Amino acid sequence: MSVRVRFAPSPTGFLHIGGARTALFNWLYARHTGGTFILRIEDTDVARNTQEAVEVILKGLRWLGLEWDEGPISGQSRGESKGAHGPYFQSQRSEIYRKRVQELKEKGHAYEHEGAVKFRMPREPILISDLVVGGVNRELTDREQLDPDFVIVRSDGQPVFHLVNVVDDLEMRITHVIRGEDHLSNTAKHIALFRAFGVDSPKYAHIPLILNKDGTKMSKRDKGASLMSYIDEDYLPEAVMNYLYLLGWSPKGNREIVPLEEVIRIFDLPQILRSNARFDLDKLHWLNWEHMRASKPERFNEIAIRALGKAGIQTSGFDPEYVREALGTCKEKVKLAADIPPFVDFYFVSELSYDPEATQKYFTPENKPRVAKLRETFAGLSNFAPDALQNTLKAVAAELGIKVGALVHPVRLAATGKTVGPSLYHLLAVLGKERVLKRLDDTLARMS
Ligand code: GLU
Repeated sequence: MSVRVRFAPSPTGFLHIGGARTALFNWLYARHTGGTFILRIEDTDVARNTQEAVEVILKGLRWLGLEWDEGPISGQSRGESKGAHGPYFQSQRSEIYRKRVQELKEKGHAYEHEGAVKFRMPREPILISDLVVGGVNRELTDREQLDPDFVIVRSDGQPVFHLVNVVDDLEMRITHVIRGEDHLSNTAKHIALFRAFGVDSPKYAHIPLILNKDGTKMSKRDKGASLMSYIDEDYLPEAVMNYLYLLGWSPKGNREIVPLEEVIRIFDLPQILRSNARFDLDKLHWLNWEHMRASKPERFNEIAIRALGKAGIQTSGFDPEYVREALGTCKEKVKLAADIPPFVDFYFVSELSYDPEATQKYFTPENKPRVAKLRETFAGLSNFAPDALQNTLKAVAAELGIKVGALVHPVRLAATGKTVGPSLYHLLAVLGKERVLKRLDDTLARMS
């Protein structure tokens, strides 16, 4: 039987990193088995549902590349083949739930109670054999002993979560329910409902929760909890994906950077770790760096230009070749898109602002004749390539009888306004002779 899985978020206006991971594990399992991945929006709580809240989910999944395979054909996308389906919305399926409630009543599994409909919960313990958690024998709690029956349709006519969740898993022929461990406590109820409908329940795989680094439960307010924050801050989706699949699953050999195609090939449910995952933003930043380094230059440049634009630095007035070369000097060095502007802004401004502490340290009367000498030597160069610049700077230092560092620091500050940045000789070569001489002149003027 072919695998059918679903991601079934409630639209809360927020896509938690844990929800994104649940979606990913479902998607990976579908791709691994050649099965079907369904997106089902659990929006029966009408008061809380808005179009925006749904958009947050769709945008997040699309950004990660987690396309769903099935669902009603939507009006506007009719005719397209890929991505034209679904998602399913529970709010459009009331008739199905109504019929199923009727069926339960007819079979004697449900009854009217004070205007609501209640499900007759079996009194015997229910065994859950979970693919991740293992076997859990769920006995009734003391409170449930008194009355284990639960409401499936409220007195206002609204069907409740347990009912619609199970009816849809049944109607959609879901074979594996992969969801957060917080739902383990609902599972006995769900299995009982499946039995009442006369079918076997799907297989369950409850994924351990994601905790903060310090072991506390991750909440909405914790930094990095919202998938949208990564979209807004221009993380690479493949880095976030890579981070997500390491949260609770691990390939053999403790490898960290695994291409998606390979993850699809090797991903399986029994390998999901039983212990809670710890959220580690530093690790995600490291992965973003690794993926950024490995990205195609055009893609990196696009991200960099967008980040610079957000920081108020326009690159459009510059020669595209100059922009490419400038950004090329930082591609391997920055972890996040947000790190790019402070690293390379000096290429794109006419007036530098200088680090005040470094200015005191390096723009000294002692350094003035040294910088002046280097300026004259640079002015005579016809080849302004990195090696030529390096050889020249070394030769000038030797002639002055000083260490190379004694020239490097003031020159970096003069050319960029900062003490850290791209490799000095490369950045000088990219800036070009004219800009470099002008910046050295500006510095000499400040030194007097
Ligand atoms: N709507 C539920 C949630 O967002 C889905 C639970 C399930 O996957 O079965 O937690």
